[in-house]
Amino acid sequence: MKAIRGATTLECDSPKEVRAKVAELLDTVAEVNGLGREEIVCIMFSSTVDIRSLYPAKAAREAGFSHCALYSSLEPDIEGGLPLCVRVMLLVERDGAVKHVYLHGARSLRRDISRTLNIALDGPAGSGKSTVAKLIASKLDILSLDTGAMYRAAALKCIREGVDYAEKSQVERVLENIDLKVKYSGGRQLTMLDGEDVSDKIRTPQVSMLASYVSAYPSVRAKMVELQRRIAARVPCVLDGRDIGTNVLPDCPFKFFLTASPEIRAERRYREDKAKGSPQTYENILEEINERDRQDANRAVAPLKRADDATVIDTSHMSAEEVAQFICKKIQEKI
Ligand code: C5P
Repeated sequence: MKAIRGATTLECDSPKEVRAKVAELLDTVAEVNGLGREEIVCIMFSSTVDIRSLYPAKAAREAGFSHCALYSSLEPDIEGGLPLCVRVMLLVERDGAVKHVYLHGARSLRRDISRTLNIALDGPAGSGKSTVAKLIASKLDILSLDTGAMYRAAALKCIREGVDYAEKSQVERVLENIDLKVKYSGGRQLTMLDGEDVSDKIRTPQVSMLASYVSAYPSVRAKMVELQRRIAARVPCVLDGRDIGTNVLPDCPFKFFLTASPEIRAERRYREDKAKGSPQTYENILEEINERDRQDANRAVAPLKRADDATVIDTSHMSAEEVAQFICKKIQEKI
């Protein structure tokens, strides 16, 4: 059994606001912990005395959390305390690590984690970003957000809808109302397209190439960047991509740019793909990597480019573990 803690603040005291913020808090706790409702044993709330319109426990029941024990209490009115604040503790049937959630300024209640830690990890295809991001996330007990997966899901949507990717208006029409979400299960990112887990289906060479095309359209980027910023603002995470340091989180204090020669990157991809049984040859992969580098670096909007204040790491002769350790050390020196 584990305890997950969290808190949020309200804009005003009204039943509608209590319902909205309690539902958001519980949904976020479930989302970042990949938690099924059946795993929740009980939910205990405490709220500041300025919240009188609705018990948070009642709001939780109305939001569908009715199978577990629910409890609300009032906190004493302490000078200097955060106003209009709801805190929660969930007891869950879990053994592994859990993530606590603080929304809408409530993070200031926890001095030890009071800044949302975001790490920007950029670089070209095959530079080791995703593997390194996962290692950093597990070392620092934060989430890892693979932003390339979002562009891949957009590309898969275009393939499924039979869109001509060269026709901007067709791509924009199909992606206008794309239902794209990111969920976590046991710390692993699941990419959900129209309610379906497409995490494996987006890893084909066809999707890789098309992702690089559709990601060049400004309206597609705007949509993805908005979603990435929303996630980064809510939970501590390491984001890997092409434009995190330059465009998604330009003020992020921790920026890293990974490089490696195209041949080494192709060799890595070849070995990874071969282990998964892919028939791709090394030459094909090298060609694809060179083509994607060219496309990603030359597009007009948010091209692949290192931020001026990013630390560049040539990973050609380093293992992923060595790169992750180097980055964590740099972060710890600054915190
Ligand atoms: O990193 P990954 O190979 O999964 O990314 C797929 C494609 O998505 C890249 O080739 C790139 O064109 C695009 N992408 C992007 N911006 C990001 C992440 C990925 O344009 N932040």
